[in-house]
This record gives sequence, structure tokens and C-alpha cells, in this order.
Amino acid sequence: MAVKQKVVYIAACDIPDCGAVYGEDPEWAYHFDSPEAATAWVDDGTGWAKDGDRLICSADDRTHDQARMPGLLI
Ligand SMILES: [Zn+2]
Repeated sequence: MAVKQKVVYIAACDIPDCGAVYGEDPEWAYHFDSPEAATAWVDDGTGWAKDGDRLICSADDRTHDQARMPGLLI
């Protein structure tokens, strides 16, 4: 059979109610073979940040800024 099922991973922002996934559109988000590959990719100059197990997208608002820089006073 030429069509096969494969499990893939996407990188999603961990800020509550954000819903962002890495890529232009959730329907066409980047797909990775493992969670580690997804986090490594978005943590390498994409504007996303990794804080422990959390991923924080590049959204420019107070909640995201404080998550990226916990000591920042805004
Ligand atoms: Zn976000």
C-alpha cells in the first residue's frame, strides 16, 4: 500500500490559551519525528524560547515576555 500512517510531532506554545504552533498555519505546521527534534528546532533561532519542558512562542505580549524572561518587570 502506498499510503502509510506515521506519528509526527508539532511544536506548540505552552502559554495557556495561546494555541500557537510553529509554522505559518496550524494546518501546515512543521512536523517532526520526535518531541526532542521539535523542541531543538524551535529553540534554535526561531524566536521561540524553551524553558525547561515548556515552549514559548514569539508572541509579543506581557504574558509571553514574562514567561521568556521571568525576572523581567513589565
Ligand atoms: Zn504563545
